Amino acid sequence: MDDLSRFCCLNPDCPDHGKRGHGNLTVPMRYGPDQTRLLRCSTCKARFSERKGTPLFDARLPAATATAVLEHVAEGVGTRKTARLTGVHPDTVTRYVRLAGGHAERLHDELVAFSPHDG
Ligand SMILES: [Zn+2]
Repeated sequence: MDDLSRFCCLNPDCPDHGKRGHGNLTVPMRYGPDQTRLLRCSTCKARFSERKGTPLFDARLPAATATAVLEHVAEGVGTRKTARLTGVHPDTVTRYVRLAGGHAERLHDELVAFSPHDG
């Protein structure tokens, strides 16, 4: 059984939009070399990739390589060194850093929105 507790419907018009672990999502199929899950909302019938909204959405690199690129950058390794160590083009490193930066900003905004208020 797939653990879908961290996912939610991404359709803004759906009554269950944004409700994590609500039980409305299923996995009708998997696709691509990494067997990425396609998720389906039983409430609004929307289908979307489990990667939508993440730096790996529509990624051309295998997930392991994309993750390795981002792990090197997160450890402070420079673009050219990261490119050499992971076997990708420096422009690819830059592209993934931009994607991850945007994702991190949205995640930060969401998490901060749930932080308790200080007195
Ligand atoms: Zn939905």
